[in-house]
Amino acid sequence: MCPQTIHLVEDNQDNSELFCELLSDKFSIECFKSANDLLSHLAKGVGHFPDLFVLDISLPGMDGVSLMKLLRSDYLYKGIPILALTAHAMADDKRRLIQAGFDWYLSKPILCEKELFHVVDGLMSKSLA
Ligand SMILES: [Mg+2]
Repeated sequence: MCPQTIHLVEDNQDNSELFCELLSDKFSIECFKSANDLLSHLAKGVGHFPDLFVLDISLPGMDGVSLMKLLRSDYLYKGIPILALTAHAMADDKRRLIQAGFDWYLSKPILCEKELFHVVDGLMSKSLA
């Protein structure tokens, strides 16, 4: 069976590496540095659709919120769960991001591996529904 696939958009190399380190045993992870990198990859139409998008919020060019809205508006991707991964950790941020359309939110740096697995597994199983 193919491992489930995550498309991560994160411009910070350290965060990107940490995320892959934590999850690459269990999932197939493709990393992109910007919204444009992800969108041009998707436009090529090669490979499988991901089972989960994980988006940093502060990105060069298009930010994570705009990218999420763009993915949500595309019938090809709108059923795929989207997780926000951001250093913006104000009290209000989680509610704001979920109201904007993200399925869930995790703050960086990732300190709790168990929480990461719990959230990723939860979102993935929702994608099978
Ligand atoms: Mg960033």
